[in-house]
Amino acid sequence: MTRLSPLLTQATGVTAVKGEGVYLFDAEGRRYLDFTSGIGVTNTGHCHPAVVEAAQHQTGELIHGQYTTVLHPALLELTARLGDVLPPGLDSLFFTSAGTEAVEAATRLAKQTTGRTNLIVFQGSFHGRTTAALSMTTSKAAYRAGLQPLMAGVFVAPFPYAYRYGWDENTTTEFALRELDYLFATQSAPRETAAIVVEPVLGEGGYVPATPGFLEGLRERCDRHSILLVIDEVQTGFGRTGRFWGHEHYNVHPDVLVTAKGLASGFPLSAIAASTELMERAWAGSQGGTYGGNAVACAAAVATLDVIEKEGLVENAATLGAHLMDALRVLQQRYPVIGDVRGKGLMVATEFTTRGEPDATRAKHMQAAVERRRLLMLTCGPLGNVIRWIPPLIVTREQIDQALGIFEEALASTAEEER
Ligand code: PLP
Repeated sequence: MTRLSPLLTQATGVTAVKGEGVYLFDAEGRRYLDFTSGIGVTNTGHCHPAVVEAAQHQTGELIHGQYTTVLHPALLELTARLGDVLPPGLDSLFFTSAGTEAVEAATRLAKQTTGRTNLIVFQGSFHGRTTAALSMTTSKAAYRAGLQPLMAGVFVAPFPYAYRYGWDENTTTEFALRELDYLFATQSAPRETAAIVVEPVLGEGGYVPATPGFLEGLRERCDRHSILLVIDEVQTGFGRTGRFWGHEHYNVHPDVLVTAKGLASGFPLSAIAASTELMERAWAGSQGGTYGGNAVACAAAVATLDVIEKEGLVENAATLGAHLMDALRVLQQRYPVIGDVRGKGLMVATEFTTRGEPDATRAKHMQAAVERRRLLMLTCGPLGNVIRWIPPLIVTREQIDQALGIFEEALASTAEEER
């Protein structure tokens, strides 16, 4: 009998047979409040009727219009529609299927257009699992273990993770930018650095928003040295952080933007956006792929854009995110094991710390304890001591409060177990 590879593990014990809005259902009809959103993908909720209808219609018209062979209307419509939400000047799009592929496409673009070899990324970043993207990923040694040496020419600077360093935001920002300048002086000279690649909020790395001034500091250095600033919005895009793009919380403009996850509500689709002028400087034929810009995924993405706009999901993420953070800060007063509450919009972290040390055991116990109460949550962070709050953006205040109630019960029960 064949079976799934044991290398593929699951964070929960659930086999989901149906999804609807913020809920997943198993074969026994048990209903779970899904605060994982398929790792930040189902921003419009599971099986949003408008997305289902668009995908069903497209499936009957054309499933696969291979985009280096033919064009198709869904691809053209999505390209035009993304123009309404992309930062000014990023008027050229290239589509792939997964986030990791889009990250690789961005690095190819950066290397070819600058003629430079090196990339700078940040400690704790996650950019994907294919070799170039994996070389840029430092959120966990397990992803890289047994595979090194990886792609050369990738240099890692500190991310301003104020809570981890134990400093205030200003001190942390100054430190991170000073270390970046030191890296320029010691390891990757600006003139050989093609791009700086950064997540506006570290995702896998612990849901850590960039401190004020950090992305602006990167932009200033990129401008000074003609380095491209690539902003990886794979997890932070499509309203997740309470703005359409995560970088909009800062005063910064990307040269290349990478998107995936929320883009097509669960259909595999990713993209990079840059100016036409930059795209034209790369080598023709250097980007492509069999499944990129799949017609059904593109149709679902157009419907996703409609839903986000019509249902005010970006605003909902901002409002309910603020409510969630306030409530978690109150909880933190009662449970000092919650060392830090941070985030933007509905991308929120609770970091567990016991006697000043990261407490991954508590995070793991909490994940299991909420699951027993039918709330699904994921951990993150290099040390595994962060529980992330990442519900679909259609979530209601009542559902957030229900999840908070379960979380508090679980906090009390795990405190009891660990006594
Ligand atoms: N970039 C970021 C910021 C991510 O969070 C992820 C996935 O979690 C990726 C890239 C890779 O995307 P994918 O898993 O679709 O390859």
